[in-house]
This record gives sequence, structure tokens and C-alpha cells, in this order.
Amino acid sequence: MKFKNVGIIGAGIAGLVCADRLRREGVSVTILEKSRGAGGRSATRHLNECSCDHGAQYFTVSDPLFAERVADWRSKGVVDNWRGRIVAIDSGVVRDLNETRERLVGTPGMNSIGKHLALNLDVRNDTEIKRIDRSNEKWQAFDDAGHPYGPFDVLLSTAPPIQTRRIFGEWSPPFAAQLESIEMLPCWSVILKFASRLPVDFDGAFVNDSILSWIARNNSKPVRDPSECWLLHGSAAWSKAHVDCEPDDVESELINEFWKLFGGELLPPSSVTSHRWRYSIPREVLSTRYLFNNHLQIGCAGDWCGGPKIEGAFLSGNALATSLLETQ
Ligand SMILES: Cc1cc2nc3c(=O)[nH]c(=O)nc-3n(C[C@H](O)[C@H](O)[C@H](O)COP(=O)(O)OP(=O)(O)OC[C@H]3O[C@@H](n4cnc5c(N)ncnc54)[C@H](O)[C@@H]3O)c2cc1C
Repeated sequence: MKFKNVGIIGAGIAGLVCADRLRREGVSVTILEKSRGAGGRSATRHLNECSCDHGAQYFTVSDPLFAERVADWRSKGVVDNWRGRIVAIDSGVVRDLNETRERLVGTPGMNSIGKHLALNLDVRNDTEIKRIDRSNEKWQAFDDAGHPYGPFDVLLSTAPPIQTRRIFGEWSPPFAAQLESIEMLPCWSVILKFASRLPVDFDGAFVNDSILSWIARNNSKPVRDPSECWLLHGSAAWSKAHVDCEPDDVESELINEFWKLFGGELLPPSSVTSHRWRYSIPREVLSTRYLFNNHLQIGCAGDWCGGPKIEGAFLSGNALATSLLETQ
């Protein structure tokens, strides 16, 4: 291999999987992550005495390579099946989904997958990369205080495309058109805690014809705190129109819509928290699993390359690592 060390921006599923694969082949990898922990959008918010998945809600498996890794996670207690009753609500009418596919979740939270993947990796948390630079065929990445990381033989970004475009700056041109072609849709999440169980006989619902797109009883997932906790997601169109609104206003509109599904308020929540995902899911994805420029030794991966969701992020990170190991 021509390269010995790799810098990866972003400790979401794509970055972690890519790093893990490279590390197993003896490559020195440093992951630079702006948040406090690993996992990215496969996230869990900790609240007083309980926690709630406020990003990705569950994942499904179709690719054999991903299935193999998921089987390993399952054997280690990192993921489990979510056996809740999932329905669709169309204009207020509840309908069961005639589906047989498994829905899996991280245990005890969706962030467990990232935590597990990060176990043997060098992840620098609280490190927001603002720019990169290249000299003498080596890369350096700089945080908001101007502190340099590197030098790296290869630099990869798994941040969403708009963020990658900003970080790459003058080094974006090989990928600028692809990075600019992807729109990431926003999503408002609201977490509601209740003192007792709501009289609702399902655990998750895809909500159609509404400003909500999804609601879920978080405590119906395996290995969760049993206290009643519901997660609401605003629809992509509504979240986009309200992306810069105040959390209080967003919370009250989405909560009103939640109660409308049941004909009125069932119980006042004991606490309300919200989170704005500016870049939640890609509207469309690139047809390629990763981007890499051989001349500059720079590349990108993520759920916006080749396929969305957690499985897509896994396959993208893995494909980028495989390509580096096989061709460089
Ligand atoms: C509200 C919501 C609901 C979803 N529902 C589902 C679902 O039900 N099922 C499913 O499979 N998927 C779902 N997804 C999508 C899923 O979460 C993503 O596809 C997957 O987690 C993407 O992983 P990734 O590694 O590509 O990107 P990310 O998880 O976004 O990882 C990128 C990382 O880069 C970091 N980063 C960004 N900028 C910088 C910077 N400047 N410096 C350093 N680090 C930086 C970020 O903090 C992040 O940790 C959902 C996502 C959201 C937000």
C-alpha cells in the first residue's frame, strides 16, 4: 500500500465502518468528529433518567455483507429486533402493514452501533473540521481554533455533502458537481415523556397526509427504559418550511398534530425536547458508492453515496475502504 495513515472526517456509520476496515488491514486511522460521541445520525438523546432515539429509528437489512455484520452485532448484544406493532395512518385511519421484514434497533439505543464500531478506533470527539490543506503530498485538517490534524496520506470526509463541500473548499473541484447535486432534507424531532402509558395500541406509525411523518413509542424498543416516551418526526416538507423556526413553536405545532391523530390530548407530557436535523436524509443519492480522486488522494462516503439509510452508509464506508485497500 502506498498510504500508511488516513484521516476521516465524521464518526457516523460510514466513517466508522471505513475506519474499522482500514484499521484491520494495519492502516493508522484518525477520525475527526465534531460531536461529543460517535454514531452520527444514528443517535440517542439522553434526558433525565431516560433516553430516546431522535434520529434514525430502526434499520432493515437486504445486502448479504451487511447481514453478516448485523449478525455479529446481534451476537454481541449491540442490536436486536424491534417487535412493536407498526402501522400506517392515512388521514386519521389506522392500517396495519402487511410486512414480514425485520426492523432492527441498537440496544440500548440507536447510538450503540456507533459506540460499538468506535471501540478500537482513534476518534477525536468535539473536533469540528473547518478546512483542509495539502502540501508535499500530505493532507492536514484544521479545527475551528486553527489546530492542525495530520499529516495524512489520504483524507476522507463522511460529513453530509454540503458540509463536505464547505470543508473541502478549494480542494472540492473534483467532486463539486456531485456534492452540490445532493439535497439533504431537514427533519424536526420532538421527544415527549409521559408519567404513564398512553392508551394507544400501536408502537410506531408512518403518518401520511400530515405535517408529521412518523411517531414511535421509544420504550417499545428492546432494552429501553420502560417509562413512556414518544418520538415525533415532522414531514420533510413541513420541516423544510419551518427549519429556522423557534423550537417552542415547532414543538407546539407538532404536538397538536400528534393529539389530532387520537381525537384530542390523551395526557399532558411531563417533558418536551426537540432537535432540528438540518441534514437528515438525502432527497436522492448518487449512483456511485463513494467518490475518490487518485491524484489528490481525497474522497467521500456516506448514505448519500449509492444508497440511503444506515445500510447505505455501511455499504458506502465499506466500499471506499475496499477500494483503497485494493487499488492504492
Ligand atoms: C430524523 C432521521 C430519521 C432517520 N430514520 C432512519 C431510519 O429509520 N432508518 C435508517 O436506516 N436510517 C434513518 N436515517 C438515516 C440514517 O441515520 C443515516 O442514513 C446514517 O446514519 C448516515 O450515516 P453517515 O455516516 O453517512 O452520516 P452521519 O451519521 O451524518 O455521519 C457524519 C458525521 O460527520 C460529522 N461531521 C459533520 N461535519 C463535521 C465537521 N465539520 N467536522 C467533523 N465532523 C463532522 C457529524 O457530526 C456526523 O457524526 C434517519 C436520519 C434522521 C436524521
